[in-house]
Amino acid sequence: MLETVFDDRTEHQQPDAIGPHPDTLSTFLWNAIIERATDVHLHCTEGGLRVLYRIDGMVHPRIVLPERQGRKLLNQIKTAAGLNAVRSFVPLEGQIHLPHEDHQRDIRVTLTPIQNRESAHLRFLTLATDQWSLPSLGLLEADQNRISETLHTQSGLVLITGGTGSGKTTTMYSLASSMDLSAMTAYSIEDPVEFKLPFAQQIEVDERHGLTMHEGLRTILRMDPDLILIGEIRDQDSAVVAARAALSGKLVLATIHAQDAPGAVDSLHYLGVPSHIIGTALRSVIAQNLLRKLCDCCAQSSPPTQQEQALFSSHGVKIPETLKRPVGCVECNSYGYRGRTGIFEIMTPDPELRQLISRGVHHNELTEFLQEQGMRSVAYDGLTKVAEGVTSTEELQRVCPLTDAASLEPIKHSPDTALQVEPAAAGQ
Ligand SMILES: [Zn+2]
Repeated sequence: MLETVFDDRTEHQQPDAIGPHPDTLSTFLWNAIIERATDVHLHCTEGGLRVLYRIDGMVHPRIVLPERQGRKLLNQIKTAAGLNAVRSFVPLEGQIHLPHEDHQRDIRVTLTPIQNRESAHLRFLTLATDQWSLPSLGLLEADQNRISETLHTQSGLVLITGGTGSGKTTTMYSLASSMDLSAMTAYSIEDPVEFKLPFAQQIEVDERHGLTMHEGLRTILRMDPDLILIGEIRDQDSAVVAARAALSGKLVLATIHAQDAPGAVDSLHYLGVPSHIIGTALRSVIAQNLLRKLCDCCAQSSPPTQQEQALFSSHGVKIPETLKRPVGCVECNSYGYRGRTGIFEIMTPDPELRQLISRGVHHNELTEFLQEQGMRSVAYDGLTKVAEGVTSTEELQRVCPLTDAASLEPIKHSPDTALQVEPAAAGQ
């Protein structure tokens, strides 16, 4: 489709109208939406403007536009985003609002000068709200219930953790959406605001004008909030304010960068929150990662290899008779995958765990305790989803590399419990 839109014949037949015609921008954007791209990258190169899509977390090169067409497209993007089309020597940010009969699509535009040219990044912001539900995240029903119970208490700190691109923000919005926000005072402080959340007052960090995350949080606390959402806790001041707000009876949902659920406790501690406050304020930690789902139309089954069998048994997951593998068809654009699902480990501190956290125990000790309690790890959840045919072994290994019992670096394995936590596996 892109090839048709940017067909060079237009250039030959209409020398005065070189490049994209007036509605090419919307066609260009809708092509990306139809292909389910979350981001479009426009990279200037010697050969022209390279167009790349990010779909289900993976980058796919789509086309290289000749330089003049590329420049024209960039100018159209700038104009639509309310920016001056003249080449800028500083980075620019704007938004495109793409009308649609159901709901408007918002696209965040970032342009940056690259030597004598410009490159751009487009992020599609609006998600259909039906994507914000706890079942659609890939959570087990029992975990959904545990989380709902935690949220129902309407106080304390709930952390969502994982690496960059692990879907933390979507989970935070889904948790918020599972509550009746129309009957609550809900505020968020985000950097930047990724999606619009109905009934929430969303504040965007603007450090150029003195609106830091810490300042935004302090302001929110003066506005009688029931629910506070924090885009990502990154600094000491914000971490301490968030924990104290949770202690004072507010419900605080926040994302934080950590390798796994016990690692979130370390992250808070590292940011200067005293252990006894973490132990008292923390209600739940959800550690997660995202896996691409196999395309239903083309995935094929075959028996697990010996290596795969070893992987399953070393993590205490029943070896399935067959596993599904990616193939590629028209429906999935030959990728073999379509859509993504989360893999999770959920830590809900009981009194004993609270005591351990308050004492400031080391990550390893916390992990061992959670293993003894039978916490389902990210690795275990991932292998279960491979066994169910939701995704493939290679996709799980790509996102969270696991080692089997026969490898040089065996995972910790206790015969007393089938559930293993492998720190390196979570939150990549
Ligand atoms: Zn397919």
